[in-house]
Order: sequence, then C-alpha cells, then structure tokens
Amino acid sequence: MRGALAGPRQLLRRLREVMAEPVNAQTRLDRIVVHIASNMVAEVCSVYVLRSDGRLELFATEGLNREAVHLTTMRAGEGLVGLIAESAEPLALADAQSHPAFSYKPETGEEIYHSFVGVPILRGGNTLGVLVVQNKARRSYSEEEIEVLQTTSMLLAEMIASGELQSLAPAGTVISLRKPLSLTGTPIADGVGLGHVVLHEPRVVVAQLVAEDLKKEESRLDEAIAALRVSIDHLIDGDEHVGPGEHREVLETFRLIANDPGWLRRLREAVMTGLTAEAAVERVQNDTRARLQRSTDPYMRERLHDLDDLANRLLHQLTGQPFVTANDKLPDNAILVARTMGAAALLDYDRRKLRGIVLEEGGPSSHVAIVARALGLPVVGEMPNITNLVEDGDAIIIDGGGGEVHVRPPADLQAAYAEKARFRARRQEQYRDLRDTPAVTRDGVTIELHMNAGLLVDLPHVGETGAASIGLFRTELLFMVASQFPRLNEQVSLYKSVLDAAPGKPVTFRTLDIGGDKILPYMRSFEEENPALGWRAIRIGLDRPALLRSQLRALLMAGGGRDLRIMFPMIAEAIEFDEAKAMTQRELRHLERHGYELPSDLKLGIMVEVPSVLWQLEDMLARVDFMSVGSNDLMQYLFAADRDNKRVSDRFDPLSAPALRALKLIADKANEAGKPVTVCGEIGGRPLEAMALIALGYKGLSMSPSSIGPVKAMVLGLDVGEARAHLLPLLDRHDGGHSLRAGLRAFAEAKGVPL
Ligand code: PEP
Ligand code: MG
Repeated sequence: MRGALAGPRQLLRRLREVMAEPVNAQTRLDRIVVHIASNMVAEVCSVYVLRSDGRLELFATEGLNREAVHLTTMRAGEGLVGLIAESAEPLALADAQSHPAFSYKPETGEEIYHSFVGVPILRGGNTLGVLVVQNKARRSYSEEEIEVLQTTSMLLAEMIASGELQSLAPAGTVISLRKPLSLTGTPIADGVGLGHVVLHEPRVVVAQLVAEDLKKEESRLDEAIAALRVSIDHLIDGDEHVGPGEHREVLETFRLIANDPGWLRRLREAVMTGLTAEAAVERVQNDTRARLQRSTDPYMRERLHDLDDLANRLLHQLTGQPFVTANDKLPDNAILVARTMGAAALLDYDRRKLRGIVLEEGGPSSHVAIVARALGLPVVGEMPNITNLVEDGDAIIIDGGGGEVHVRPPADLQAAYAEKARFRARRQEQYRDLRDTPAVTRDGVTIELHMNAGLLVDLPHVGETGAASIGLFRTELLFMVASQFPRLNEQVSLYKSVLDAAPGKPVTFRTLDIGGDKILPYMRSFEEENPALGWRAIRIGLDRPALLRSQLRALLMAGGGRDLRIMFPMIAEAIEFDEAKAMTQRELRHLERHGYELPSDLKLGIMVEVPSVLWQLEDMLARVDFMSVGSNDLMQYLFAADRDNKRVSDRFDPLSAPALRALKLIADKANEAGKPVTVCGEIGGRPLEAMALIALGYKGLSMSPSSIGPVKAMVLGLDVGEARAHLLPLLDRHDGGHSLRAGLRAFAEAKGVPL
C-alpha cells in the first residue's frame, strides 16, 4: 500500500518546487494542473475558484480548451463542479455524463471525457473552489487518488488564501475568501468599534505542508498524539489547572476522540500522502468541519467544536505555537473574535488596544459580557462559525447596539461607521461636559445617578462620570476573576481599594451573588435542574455561613472609620435578612472585641429581585435601611422568562402595565416608609425606561458608567409631573396591552425629552 503512494509524494514534492518558483500566479497555476494531470495519468486537470458573487470560475486547466479559462463559470449547485462546491464533499464518477447534475459547457470541449473526480478546495470548513481531474476512459478512482487530490487541494487553498490569485480575477469580482460579509448576531454590549480581527485562539499557521521525511512525520504525529492523551488524562485527573470552560464532560469527550481509531487512521493516512504531521491534522480537520457544518443534527455540530478544539490542541503540540495572542502582537485597534471566552482571559489583554469582541457563543449576561461592558467594549454574540469566516488581521466593524458585524467592509461602509463612531465620541464628550451638572429635572426634582461596578477597572469611572456613588458593587466579579478564593486580608485590601477610589461617595457592596450561572472556577459547582431557581446568592451565604461571615468581616474591616453600605442579594423572605443582619452584627462585635476600628456608619439593605418580596414590603421596609430593585432578576421571575435564554428573554417588556405596576408598588411603599429605594438592574440605564421609573417615583438609579451621560441628558429635559400625569392613568387602564413603550416614546418625543 505504501508503495502505491510514492506517486503522490513525488507530486507533492513537484508542487512544492512550483510554489517556490519566481513566476506569476497564472503560470504557477498552469504548471500545477499539468503536474497533477501527469501524475494521475489523466487527460484533464482543472481548477475552479469560488468568487464572491457565488460563481465558480475556471482559473486553470490542462486538457480542456484553454480559451475557456476565466470565461467559463457556473453557479454553486450547477453541474458536477457546483455540486461539489455545495456539498463540500469529493465526488468520483466513472461515467460523468450519465449523472443527473452533469452540465455541458460547450466552450470547454469536455464531452469526450467520461470519468470525473473532483474535490472541494477547503479552508477552515469553507469551500474556496473545486479541483477536478478527468479521463477519457471510463475508470474508477481509488480512495488513495481522491486522498491525493484532497491533499494537493490544500496547496491551492493556501494560494487562494494568500491573495495571490486575486489579481487573476476579472475586474470587479473578488475571490470568495476575501468577500465582505455582513452578519447579525445578538447585541450584548452597545458601542461601535472599527479595527482588525485578532483571533483569541490564533489559528496555527502550518508553515510547511509537504513532508521532507515521511518516517519522521509519522513519529512526530505519534508522539504528539501520545502527549495529547497524557495531557488530557492529567486534566481529567485534576493534576493540572483546568481552565474556564474546560468542564469534565468536555474533557471526557476529548479523551474519547483522542483514542478513536477512525480519527487516528485518517490522520495517519493523511501523513502517508506526503503531508507533514501538522498539515495532516489540518487536512483531516478541514474535511470533518466541512462535513459536520452541513449536518442538521445539533449534537453532531456540537461535536464539531470538540473536534476543532482537539485538532487545535494537537496543532499546538506539534508546532509549539502559543495558545493565545500575546499583548505585544496585539494591533492598536484589536477586535477579538472567539468561540467563547472567559472573563479572566479578557482581562489578560491590554485594554487600551481593544475595540470590541465578537463571540460565537455567549449571551448578554455571560461573565465575559459583564466584564466587557465594564470595560466599555462593544460585544456581539451568537455568531456561529465566525472564527472560521475571518482571518487574523481582517478589517472588521462591530456595532454592538444592533448586533451587527461587518467583515472586510467595503470603503463606503467603513466611512459610514467611522462617521458613526465620531458622532458617538462627540456625544460622549457632550456627556462628559454634563459631568458636574446636577441631575435635576425641569420641575426641580433631584435624581441621584449612581454607578454599577464590580471590578477594579471600573473604579476610575466614578470620577469620570460624576456618579453620585457606587450604587451596586457586584463583589462576585472580583471572586470570578481570581484564580483562587481570596483570603480575608486579600478581600480587605480589595474592598479598601474600592472605597479609596470613591472618596466621599458611598459604596453599596452586594455580598456574593454566586450560584446559578455565576460559578467560581475554584469552587465545587453543583448540577441543578433550574439553576436560576436554585442554590444561589444569600441561600448559599446562609447555608454555608463561613463564606458569608468572612466576606462580612472583610467588608467591615475595610470600612473601618468610614460609611459602609452592605446589600444582600436574592432575599425572598424577611427572616433571611434577619439572619444576615444577625451575622453582620456578630462580626461587628467580634471586631470590636479585638480592637478594630468600626465603620462610622453602617447601613444594611436588600435587593428586591424575588417577587415574594412584593407582598411583604412593609415587613421588609421595617427592617432594612434601604432597598435596591434588581430588575434583571425581578423581571425574569415575574414573567417566568429566563434572562439568559434569548428565545424568551425579550418576550416580555418591562415597560408593560404589569411590570410597571409592580415597580410602582415598591417605590410607593418605600417612599411612604421614608426608606431610600433605587433601581440597579439594566433598565435603570436605558433613558426611556429610566424616564418611566422616575415617573413612578424612583429618585435614584444605578447603572453602568456609560449610561450615566445619556440618562442625565434625559433627566435634564424631563418634567416629572408631566411624565407622571401621562403614565399613571395608563397603569389604571385594563386593556391588556403588551407594552406601553410606543406611547412613552411618543410622549418623550412630543415633550422634547432626549432619549
Ligand atoms: C439584577 O438582578 O437586576 C441585578 C442588578 O443583579 P444581577 O444582574 O447581578 O443579577
Ligand atoms: Mg440579580
């Protein structure tokens, strides 16, 4: 069998020589088809390249009428060549003309050829063209011959990807790989970014496709696979650090694949055709990707991710290339493109060089989204296969608000977005000018605009935005980006640095809101059927008091001699607050006994985010010093609509009568009781929603730093009396409408309230 493959290896060597010759692209391509035809003892060898208009153009031929080069084209799906491009699979026929898809192109003179074999030219699972061989005689092509063609097509893929063939395309047409793409995903964080693609996991560049020494490549492959297996075993056995996203289940799948005889056989066969070990891995993965991407079975498509990951690990093993882009290789305007990414990985990049993030997976409340928002970066998610559609360095535009991504955008689109980015920058400047203007409505009501934070990188924003205070500090984010559970003194210094960053402004620390989807990588997590309704936040805090106690102690120590505000998340009944308060007081007494300086003032409050609180507001208000409405969770529980599930998360509108009635009830009761109440969920940072909240009676809103400017501009143009007079009668109507959004928007427009 090996002997039979000496021909292909010789061919690859020839082709490598041709690739190195100092000739123009057309000559190189012409020589390549001659070599392939002669090596395969075929009369015809042709290369078709896919153009951005979807047509396959004949770029070179040996054997067909050469006049037809750059003239003959066909649609994807048209003829045998079109069929191969569409299915991304090889096709071999002893009698091509009897195939129903056969389409005759008279200018090529191909009717005299009976046998036909064609393979797609693939890169990253995308079809770039088709390579065809034909014979006059009716003959069958062996598996080995098809393999050879697939291998040689990799060289052609490299040529196409290098841009060398672009000069041969007729004026006005572009080869498909370089074509502009406009894609829509899920908006995750607002903002516009223009820059260049940086693949978070850089594709391994296979510098040498053709093997010098086959034996050596075989043993390199074997060694790399053995090392890969050992490293996976270590990961599973817990000997090595398991990175984010590397869950046991995924690793078990890796282990299965790494030992799968079919996968290993395909890799070895690819090496036998004369490829280097790394080129063999890439070839096998290209075929697998092309096949699985067309699968309609979601399970199979999921496996593709695992296979991609594993192939990638093997490539890194073979080439020793780094897993992530180093900061010194980052362009000044980097747009990260990733399948998924952990919050900690994002924080490893140099923030000053980042302009946005595009993710294949990842919803609006994923951790990376929360961190990206804190960094002020636009993010678009749910963009399948984007990592295979772009190359490092491609020009790219991201529009986070609309969930749009433009890859290799044409000049006019670039100009339009550059203008949009300038406009936004001008508006940000105007907002900055408002920094020291108090947020007072036209009818003299002062609204306090606070800032949400959760990372140390957020802290400079307190001064920049002129926020009244940090209305919500999500402490779990500090824990999520740490590599191990922060010890007491580490927590004290973290909290101190938060307080130091906001001198003279109160900070409301929320105790750990972990569980559900907020997992600490170093803490054991539990599988739950309904994590959002499960063991999370204060529930963990009360059931495992050591955790909450140490956090409370650290907060009280950090707040020594200052004003301190602590807030408990997910409170569902009054007794939970009582217990948390008792725990806080025990810690206070402990610190007092040991001579620590205590906070000069301590206020304790709750998040209102579980609907049961709505029917015990009096009980709660009698106990707490303040309340903050977590509308993200409150809405998810009121409407029974998972905030992380994009099929339902936008189904119900917080600007609907039932939601606003619930929000009004909280404001009314708190105002009656004389206890401060704010809204710290996402709705507080959206000008239209914020207008409605103020009309309902809220005088404090806490939001992400970038929202403070737009909300303040709205407040300055608002007459609360008018807005209230408009909104309250609508809440008394019982016409069962889905949303009051349009009416509120029309009101704002009529009154000139800037939104
Ligand atoms: C909320 O639920 O509205 C909230 C502010 O908290 P988080 O988004 O962290 O759950
Ligand atoms: Mg919440």
